[in-house]
Amino acid sequence: MVATLFIDGTWRAASDGAAHEVRSPHDQSLVATVSQATQADVLDAIGAARASFDSGIFTSWSFKARSELVSKIADLLERDTDVIARKESDDTGKRFIEAQYDVADVVSTFRHFAALGAKEHGRSVDVGIAHVSSRIVHEPLGVASLIGPWNYPLLQIAWKVAPALVAGCSFIVKPSELTPQSAIALMKIIEEAGTPKGVANLILGPGSVVGTSLISDPRVDLVSFTGGLTTGQTIIRAAAETVKKLALELGGKNPHIIFADADIDAAIDNAVTAAFLHSGQVCSAGTRLIVERSIHDRVVNEIVRRAAKISLGGPDDEMAETGPLISQAHLNNVSAYVQRGIAEGATLLVGGKRSDKPEHAKGWYYLPTVLDNCQGKMYCVQEESFGPVMTVEVFDSEAEAIAIGNDTVFGLSGGVWSGDAAKAARVASALRHGTIWVNDFGPYRPAAEWGGYKQSGIGRELGEHGLGEYLEIKHIWTNNAPSRSGWFKDQ
Ligand code: NDP
Repeated sequence: MVATLFIDGTWRAASDGAAHEVRSPHDQSLVATVSQATQADVLDAIGAARASFDSGIFTSWSFKARSELVSKIADLLERDTDVIARKESDDTGKRFIEAQYDVADVVSTFRHFAALGAKEHGRSVDVGIAHVSSRIVHEPLGVASLIGPWNYPLLQIAWKVAPALVAGCSFIVKPSELTPQSAIALMKIIEEAGTPKGVANLILGPGSVVGTSLISDPRVDLVSFTGGLTTGQTIIRAAAETVKKLALELGGKNPHIIFADADIDAAIDNAVTAAFLHSGQVCSAGTRLIVERSIHDRVVNEIVRRAAKISLGGPDDEMAETGPLISQAHLNNVSAYVQRGIAEGATLLVGGKRSDKPEHAKGWYYLPTVLDNCQGKMYCVQEESFGPVMTVEVFDSEAEAIAIGNDTVFGLSGGVWSGDAAKAARVASALRHGTIWVNDFGPYRPAAEWGGYKQSGIGRELGEHGLGEYLEIKHIWTNNAPSRSGWFKDQ
């Protein structure tokens, strides 16, 4: 029986012995069998996290001590890079080399939060009374449910686990059932590093089953979630009952604006990367191309030529530039999304179907796709496909480019290309998205906050705010010369 649930410091099988097979998106081969938690297991994990938190076993550590733990975890992750990257590429179907980059980013995330935790926390406030000392102190928020998606499984969990540990929270991690292996590896490292029993717990299983208690149990103080908008809305509703704190990183439909005065060659190359990296399974993918009318044909023709040449392949295909979609269900959704766009009047220029290469027959390979002549109200313009689908719209003025770029319920990221620095700065300022790239698209650093405006989320990960999500802020007022208040008459 597989024992891949980590509850109260012990590796366990599911209480009913249930297990789940993880299959490669590349060829459907079996890559792992993992435990599938029951409701009783989930409640045990929440109970263990609550008990460890309330016991003070970890909250009593100083920020410095917890930062040292997180730094040690970074070292162990770095040591195991290739083993973890292999598990990640097996589960996601992404190339091994991409998974190695992801693990390097995970290590940087842990190092960033370790450094942040080692700084001074809290401050004194001058309340204007000599005999009063007023202190703002930062305390661990409590028990957190940390729920992650399947596209960057370990990285998205790391953005939560590292600050939760530095803050002193206890938590339950739940990765997507499609990609559980890297979270198991991370838990083993957290255990090896000497994290106290019960602080870190791991639950595996489908979100619709094991997620319910994680987002509603009164013993959970915070839900930190990365995933789709619909699940995010479910979490907001469930959290209302016990007024949980929420940190939500949701979807995006990210505008990528190219002005005629841009470095067109660089803009085109970045537009191809922005839309088709990891086959578009990126929350910040630049899949909404907004191009100045005078350069439309030049830009779009070149993007189509490049998209048609992108080489697809599995984890160990050295010629591959990107990989499969995560599942058959996701492939079906992307395919229906493209068909709906065409039905609404978009023009299919390239792709629009599953790869028909024999070596892709068992995998979920969908060709890089470009839909031209798109209009703002179309479903394919407003909704995220989370697949390799670029939509193209045109604009005639700076104001129109901004208006199109903001015409979305999402607000995660966007890009603007222009040789006119003042214009680019104006557009960057006017776009209501959490990250804007000017003459670039995609890079991020753990030291800079990440998160969404509007329906792309609540709160921020990374940067300094990313730690703040796991802290409560307490004001302690100490009167060093107590006296009567004198407010009410003392008859
Ligand atoms: P989902 O919302 O389907 O799932 C995300 C996680 O939530 C998974 O672990 C899933 O479990 C779990 N889950 C599903 N239903 C529930 C529930 N009722 N209660 C609790 N947990 C639940 O998203 P995807 O995994 O499909 O990820 C893609 C989405 O994530 C895209 O919209 C993308 O934009 C967004 N995303 C956002 C990022 C950001 O930084 N803003 C970064 C990366 C992705 P399971 O899969 O096991 O069912």
